[in-house]
Amino acid sequence: MKPRDVIVLGGGAAGLFCAIEAGKRGRSVAVIERAGQVGKKIAISGGGRCNFTNRHTRPENFLSENPDFCRSALARYTPRDFVTLVERHGIAHHEKKLGQLFCDGSARQIIHMLLDECAAARVEVTTGCEVIEITRDGAFLVRTDKQTFTASSLVLATGGLSIPKIGATDFAYRVASRFGLRVVTPRPGLVPLLFAPVEGAAFRDLAGISFEAIVHLDGAAFREGVLVTHRGLSGPAILQISSHWRSGEEIRIDLLPGERAEALLEANRGSAMQLATLLGQRLPRRFAQIWCSLYAPSKPMRQYSAKAAATIGARLHDWRVIPSGTEGFAKAEVTAGGIDTRELSSKTMETRRVPGLYVIGEAVDVTGELGGFNFQWAWASGYAAGQYV
Ligand SMILES: Cc1cc2nc3c(=O)[nH]c(=O)nc-3n(C[C@H](O)[C@H](O)[C@H](O)COP(=O)(O)OP(=O)(O)OC[C@H]3O[C@@H](n4cnc5c(N)ncnc54)[C@H](O)[C@@H]3O)c2cc1C
Repeated sequence: MKPRDVIVLGGGAAGLFCAIEAGKRGRSVAVIERAGQVGKKIAISGGGRCNFTNRHTRPENFLSENPDFCRSALARYTPRDFVTLVERHGIAHHEKKLGQLFCDGSARQIIHMLLDECAAARVEVTTGCEVIEITRDGAFLVRTDKQTFTASSLVLATGGLSIPKIGATDFAYRVASRFGLRVVTPRPGLVPLLFAPVEGAAFRDLAGISFEAIVHLDGAAFREGVLVTHRGLSGPAILQISSHWRSGEEIRIDLLPGERAEALLEANRGSAMQLATLLGQRLPRRFAQIWCSLYAPSKPMRQYSAKAAATIGARLHDWRVIPSGTEGFAKAEVTAGGIDTRELSSKTMETRRVPGLYVIGEAVDVTGELGGFNFQWAWASGYAAGQYV
């Protein structure tokens, strides 16, 4: 059993990045990955092109019980730093929209880059390796089905619960509870929402239809695409709001952003045109028909009183939906919640209770919005820990 300086559990984005940074400091580092290969989530990210960062990353793009926790790490490793690394490896990339940077080619280029950096920093990566037991007696001892590793620093980078099909487990939370660390209850984030039965039955056949809207919940609002699914709503605006949503809460959807629906309806109140036909000029036609059948039975416009038209106009800007739930961790792009940031130093990511134990990446209660922010958190938190492990 050769002692190392650092053991990193989890060969995902955060774990590999932390290992590289520690290796560059001359630390001997072993990465232990349960799956047969590292970075499986990177491989499927961004539709196979990996939205590896967002140029406009700010602390405000992250959700946490302590919204300030991410500030320090994000300030010390910026999107520009990661882009410099990507460019040094000759990986062509482009901005899709809103600061979101993607590989021109394939997400696998990011994995190769990380593995090249690991090799250069003499990081030892063991895949297909199952952790059986972790003990601590001065140093950490990690017993696996392959060998036993020992080191003075242990980094927990095993991610959250999203997409169990590709290997997500509750490992980080189990280790946390083993060491007495508090966990903010994990919940699915960036996940499609489900309709209640009435809307579900009405909109079911519209799956695939999309439109632009502003989706609101409490103080959060996102103006982007909304997609009707077989069971509810998805699309970027819904995924974004889902990270804020708790069971029973009502989301509010402005179906005609930037328009004045009341004025539009009033201007057409002399017309023989059906309401659904008029709305079908602004929204997908079939969606407008179903929406009217549920909330504003369609008639010729001239049959609506001014008051009725105003009520419908207001409702178009404020469609209230109470989702019955989410599609769950099976479809969630991230896990919101996680190891409580009060347990960690925001400078080093080391736990306060257990010296030498660090937690980074999605396992921590820091969740980014859609658009490259979650990887930027993985790089930044990995970088922070990598300077101290
Ligand atoms: C479909 C999809 C698309 C996404 N696209 C984007 C995107 O384009 N941009 C973006 O910013 N974010 C994206 N995300 C989110 C992003 O992938 C994650 O936030 C990020 O990968 C988290 O990094 P991590 O290293 O903390 O965890 P992970 O990448 O999940 O890595 C954790 C690693 O630990 C391993 N592991 C688990 N248990 C054990 C164990 N017991 N022992 C050893 N190893 C273990 C896992 O196999 C895994 O390799 C996407 C997520 C999904 C699901």
